[in-house]
Amino acid sequence: MNRDSEDREVSQLPGSQRKPPSHVSLPDSSWRSRFRSRLRRWYAKHARDLPWRRNRDPYLVWISEIMLQQTQVAAVEPYFLRFRAAFPTIKALAAADEQDVLRHWEGLGYYRRARQLHAAAKVLVDEHRGRFPDDPEAVRALPGIGRYTAGAILSIAFDAREPILEANTIRLFCRLLTYRGQPASSEAQRLLWAMAEAMLPRRRVGTFNQALMELGSQVCTPKAPKCDQCPVATLCEAKRFGLQDAVPALKPKKKFEEVHEVALIVRRRGRVLLLRRPEGGRWAGLWDFPRYEMDHEVEPVLFRRLRDMLRTQTGIDAVPESHQKRLKHGVTRFRITLDCYSARFVASGKPPADAPEWKWVTPGQMAEHPLSTTGRKLAALVR
Ligand code: SF4
Repeated sequence: MNRDSEDREVSQLPGSQRKPPSHVSLPDSSWRSRFRSRLRRWYAKHARDLPWRRNRDPYLVWISEIMLQQTQVAAVEPYFLRFRAAFPTIKALAAADEQDVLRHWEGLGYYRRARQLHAAAKVLVDEHRGRFPDDPEAVRALPGIGRYTAGAILSIAFDAREPILEANTIRLFCRLLTYRGQPASSEAQRLLWAMAEAMLPRRRVGTFNQALMELGSQVCTPKAPKCDQCPVATLCEAKRFGLQDAVPALKPKKKFEEVHEVALIVRRRGRVLLLRRPEGGRWAGLWDFPRYEMDHEVEPVLFRRLRDMLRTQTGIDAVPESHQKRLKHGVTRFRITLDCYSARFVASGKPPADAPEWKWVTPGQMAEHPLSTTGRKLAALVR
């Protein structure tokens, strides 16, 4: 297609002109209908074969959508297959022990998602006879389901005319419209949700929504979008003005906070001490080695403090002995340096009333307990 015809197509966007418009408005119906038919044709040829796309069971769509939040497709695939095998139905998930659910989630991160999935499965059994509802209000009332997830499940599983908006479609829409503001602003969110709604076809809405996300993730990528392979390139304002790299606007840089933590591997007759992480905090419900945030202190002050902290927390007395390993990892906005020390059990005193649940486990038993990623690395060290 030559440059003139490109310009004709883009000019269907209201306000379109030679320089990027300062106000963005939604595309007209002729633009939308060309967009839909090109996207459909492209998706029919290029859709990836993903395990959750092979049927429209709302339970499986739901599991996949929750797993895909903040996690890449390639990382989700093996987890999805294992989770589906372990909990094949809503009833099976609701009846499962939370520890078992967390164990199947281990390594995927954002463990709150697993706990909310489990809680929602119980609600589905108690209030919807173990079936996933097709009523938007009932879906949005479930734990862990927001506007995007509800739209994705309802459109994909029930073909409901519900819009979706997530990272890939936000980027795609911003570029199609040359929206140059911050995508997370409330103005942008209003505009982009309105765009998502206006774009919906009358039929096969789920396929359309998936095609949008696929185009965003496979072609309209964050860096170096593949405009030469894009089925809607001639409809794209960012392409027209050469603004693909400038749109969407970059998020303000995250400020990272450096944190130092110390973990203890306390040994007692071939077993090690694990504590259960308390409600409301990081990794709630998972098991972990005693772990404390502290300044970079040196022995013997460090050892004295660690001994006191463990005693105050659990009533258990143990003597820290030697440094085992240093791990570096990131959790949300924190950059954590974790130093791990071995410690020798001395005695058990009376635990305080608010002590966390704890266990002495053999190295073999650690596999049965859901641990954080660094917890699992320390478990390997113990073995
Ligand atoms: S033309 Fe380029 S920037 Fe525009 S939608 Fe396609 S891939 Fe994205």
